[in-house]
Amino acid sequence: MGKCKNITRLLSDALDRPLKAGEWVAIGLHLPTCSGCRNYRKHIGLLRAAARAMSGLDDADGDRAED
Ligand SMILES: [Zn+2]
Repeated sequence: MGKCKNITRLLSDALDRPLKAGEWVAIGLHLPTCSGCRNYRKHIGLLRAAARAMSGLDDADGDRAED
């Protein structure tokens, strides 16, 4: 059951570095099955959006819209 810990770590990493394709696949396979990780993703997504809004920066730095 270490899966969620791994996935949430990847979601967190995704804010700081580009994830590898295999890492996105792991996330994509896990999120539909796990409301906890979906909530985590939503949570950090909102935090990032808030941080961007507050800093006034909106740089599309290669972030893919994965929603
Ligand atoms: Zn999970």
